[in-house]
Amino acid sequence: MTLNTNTPLLELRHISQRYGSGTRQFTAVDDVNIAIQEGEFVALLGPSGCGKSTLLRIMTGLRPPSEGEVLYKGEPVRGVNPHATIVFQTFALFPWLTVQQNVEVALKARDVPMRVRGTRAVDLLDKVGLDGFENAYPRELSGGMRQKVGFARAMAVEPELLCLDEPFSALDVLSAESLRSELLELWMSGKIPTKAILLVTHNIEEAVVMADRIIVMEKDPGRVVADLRVNLPHWRQRKDPAFLTVVDQVYAVLAGQTQAE
Ligand code: ADP
Repeated sequence: MTLNTNTPLLELRHISQRYGSGTRQFTAVDDVNIAIQEGEFVALLGPSGCGKSTLLRIMTGLRPPSEGEVLYKGEPVRGVNPHATIVFQTFALFPWLTVQQNVEVALKARDVPMRVRGTRAVDLLDKVGLDGFENAYPRELSGGMRQKVGFARAMAVEPELLCLDEPFSALDVLSAESLRSELLELWMSGKIPTKAILLVTHNIEEAVVMADRIIVMEKDPGRVVADLRVNLPHWRQRKDPAFLTVVDQVYAVLAGQTQAE
């Protein structure tokens, strides 16, 4: 299919999700419309319980929505989207496998021939700065290094859409900051074939440091209340007045002080 330049990489149309049944049924996500274009780094920001993880599962095809449609390059998504992967907060590594084997598992799942799996895995580990740790086990690594394995594994399948579910939340402040920079470096240098990144977070500054666009959600029911563009060049400085202005603007939306755009 020829992709019209305006066709979004991913589009959510009128997505709603209800959980429970009978009188205990409730709406977790209400009529969400989001379009992500190629080249965008988008943050999905909102308080706990506003439906971010639910939307991530719907976007990647892990769960069908109660209502609405998910389109990938203009085509309806049916089943798991092979062009998208998720990096989880809790790393989700197999403790009994070495670092390299943890990455190879992802390659095997995508039917990459055995003879090239080793080289591909070593190459990816090198990219995320884990050269020399191929034979270590996850328990021997720090949290930051474990998450690097998580990134290498997600990138192993060369996803067009890389989804990150609070990937820095379980890390200490310094590890989180250095991993954010490394991811931005990989993304901006074009060293990974990823076409768009979606970062789920509840951390306002993290969203402003990394994203080109911040989609702000509120809860009860989960819905989009603003879609803001971050027009600051990288690398962004947290103490820069322009940075703080954007942080304040997002905070005001979350605190309900300004109206949705
Ligand atoms: P977030 O990721 O923003 O914290 P979630 O998508 O995890 O939000 O959850 C949104 C709402 O839906 C919450 O009230 C949560 O308790 C509820 N929820 C999420 N998953 C399920 C499920 N499988 N069954 C029932 N309720 C769920």
